[in-house]
Amino acid sequence: MFLVTDLCKMKISLLIIGDEILSGETLDTNAHFISKILNENGFNINQKLTVGDTENEIINGIEFLYQNSDFIITTGGLGPTKDDVTKYALMKYFGGELVVNQEMKTYLTERYQKRGLEVNELTSLQASVPSSAEVLINTVGTAPVMWFNQNNKQLVTLPGVPYEMKYLIENLILPKLLEKFSTAFILHETIRTVAVPESKLAAILNDVEAAIEAAITTENYYKLAYLPELGMVKLRLTGIGKSQTEITANLAKWKKEIDAITAKYIYGFGDESLATAVGKLLMKKSATLGIAESCTGGFLSHLITSATGSSAYYLGSVISYGYEVKTNLLGVQKQTLESHGAVSEETCNEMVSGTLKQLNTTYAIAITGIAGPGGGTPEKPVGTVWIGVGNQTETITKKFLFDRNRTENIQLSAVYALDMLRKFIEVK
Ligand code: AMP
Ligand code: MG
Repeated sequence: MFLVTDLCKMKISLLIIGDEILSGETLDTNAHFISKILNENGFNINQKLTVGDTENEIINGIEFLYQNSDFIITTGGLGPTKDDVTKYALMKYFGGELVVNQEMKTYLTERYQKRGLEVNELTSLQASVPSSAEVLINTVGTAPVMWFNQNNKQLVTLPGVPYEMKYLIENLILPKLLEKFSTAFILHETIRTVAVPESKLAAILNDVEAAIEAAITTENYYKLAYLPELGMVKLRLTGIGKSQTEITANLAKWKKEIDAITAKYIYGFGDESLATAVGKLLMKKSATLGIAESCTGGFLSHLITSATGSSAYYLGSVISYGYEVKTNLLGVQKQTLESHGAVSEETCNEMVSGTLKQLNTTYAIAITGIAGPGGGTPEKPVGTVWIGVGNQTETITKKFLFDRNRTENIQLSAVYALDMLRKFIEVK
């Protein structure tokens, strides 16, 4: 059986440092990010450990991790205040003494001057590093990135602040790791599907999966991963190994096959979001969109406006919770609300036509439902949501029953609404 470790023999461990992670105050997103990006690049993360902000715990952690790995990446504990002790622990472990790194001092001074800030004692303390470390300049912050290398055991420190850590991993550490340790070629292809369960996709893709498995050799490894998100499943093809030509050709072939078999569920490829994909369809038609949101309280509009350039097609929304807003701003009949209720096909229909009229758009979406946890009845349980999409000539409404919590019911409603619009535009 092929193992990624055959391509990259080095084992990497993560040492996550911070009392706030252990107490549960801060969710450890750093380990997740680092594991994911290194794994995608063919590195073998074999252990991760979280320790508190004490020298002893950090040193014990390093000793433990080195028993079964050669390379440690740490995050956290690099601030200038007394509660951050990572560099002192590392100096105890690797030896050396605190010295001022001139390059870092100049960088920090310039950084502070540019912002009109004074360089005080605490900030200049950031430029003092153990003499046993090589310093890499952290161009997005003040925490020192230190690279230790002793007896073939290496360690690099990263700040705890997630956006600094991310930037440094992507732009500084990963390129160095690839240059020093990787021998593998890696390729990923992502295919994005919506409104289809993972199990159904797996059944449809049975033959492709068999072909992928059959192509694995001792040189090249292939995998199809199903990565579900709310209402959506990302299909990720990975090829990793020695032969760039073979991997590239195989992934292109399987991507085409998957595209052909699951076309109606696919909204995009790569990093494209559903809202961006729908936006592209609207732009292609030079069309505009208006929305009436009830149970999603603006979440659908938020998703749509997260796509850059959305003001070209998105004209606006009416967030209509009260009966008066539905009647006064959208023209829903009082009679309709009284006889069928706000969460009904009839109201949803009138919300669509009202939006088209009031906002004067090519397309309209309306959502009305019960997000929960309260407000359900035996006939209309929590999670009942009506979604409508329409244009001047036709409106389609559909009833959904999402049996999740409030947040997820809201998110699912928005995703399914976008998907209904996607299909509506593609067909009309
Ligand atoms: P530190 O570098 O330990 O001073 O941490 C700076 C900030 O980054 C703190 O506010 C932490 O909440 C945050 N942080 C530290 N470690 C992590 C981590 N593993 N995941 C997410 N955030 C973190
Ligand atoms: Mg800390």
